[in-house]
Amino acid sequence: MPNRMFVPGPVDVDDEVLQAQTRPMMPHRNKEFEEIFRRAADKSRALFFTEARVLIMTNSGSGAQEASVRNLANSTVLSCVNGAFSDRWYKVSVANGKQTTKLEVPLGDAITPEMVEDALKKQKVELVVIAHNETSTGVRNPVKEIAQVIQRVSPDTLFAVDAVSSLGGDKIEMDAWGIDVLFTSSQKTLALPPGLALCAVNDRALKKAESVQNRGWYFDFVLLEKHRLKDSTPMTPAMSLIFALDFQMDRILKEGVEARIARHAAMAQRAQEWTIAKGWPLLAPEGYRSQTLTVVRNPETFDLAEFNKFIAPRGMKLANGYGDLKNKTIRIAHMGEIVMDDLNRLLSALGEFAK
Ligand SMILES: *Cc1c(COP(=O)(O)O)cnc(C)c1O
Repeated sequence: MPNRMFVPGPVDVDDEVLQAQTRPMMPHRNKEFEEIFRRAADKSRALFFTEARVLIMTNSGSGAQEASVRNLANSTVLSCVNGAFSDRWYKVSVANGKQTTKLEVPLGDAITPEMVEDALKKQKVELVVIAHNETSTGVRNPVKEIAQVIQRVSPDTLFAVDAVSSLGGDKIEMDAWGIDVLFTSSQKTLALPPGLALCAVNDRALKKAESVQNRGWYFDFVLLEKHRLKDSTPMTPAMSLIFALDFQMDRILKEGVEARIARHAAMAQRAQEWTIAKGWPLLAPEGYRSQTLTVVRNPETFDLAEFNKFIAPRGMKLANGYGDLKNKTIRIAHMGEIVMDDLNRLLSALGEFAK
């Protein structure tokens, strides 16, 4: 049985995927690498349900947060905050000098379309940003409905979505829903080592970027696109990770994107039902629960450190809460390579330990 970490990133990486990184280096500006670069990006479009370009960026997900605000707003941003990772995006936006309005709800709550509508009616903004799956609380925001509200109330406003801990384990239809920028990073649901972000950018977003001042250089969508059209990047890309991405996308497409999403949905349902039956309260309200991790309020009598000692010999590890929720919640991540049998092993160990 493989070792399994039920933690929301970096997740376990399959041995063959790790091996794919060990391919010898080659010049990055030659046909052989350009071919690999292009097909890795092309294959990954299926995860985004988009016909738009996917930029492969040599940075983690936070870099894609930074790129979005730098490229899509000269000034005004509405930043939806319902946990630590969406709060990071708010801070990133402020740090980049954008005039950023925070729309914040208590930890465990979701951002609703009505809240976004009210905010947009009060103040016109160039860009709305939100985390689809808030990894610190296990809340999934209703991004589809929020996109509809933005299109109705403020059609010129762009919409950027962080799906760092959900893309590939949940269905987010970029084109059909009307999302302008959608991104993930490699070390969570995609089950790759950390260090890459995949960022889909539609034509409207690219056009807006052309008119935005001070986009910087490293994260400039316009420059990245210019090079992408030549199957390349402005800078030296993280080639070993791209070898791994190319290989992992074949594995993902072999399972099937829909089947992969269904696997995650089934595990989420199982984890939710198990914890509810046990009498352990979930942090996220019904209807807003993540498909890739289940966040449980820490039961009084449960000692996570002791439990991790208990399951270590069985090759498992469970995650603590994050940020303000550390020691107040446990996070059961069921993403990436984890399958139902793994989750059942963890739940039965939980049952044994916490009778
Ligand atoms: C992990 C995470 C991030 C940060 O991504 P890095 O790849 O660590 O920079 C951002 N947003 C969400 C929702 C995350 O889960």
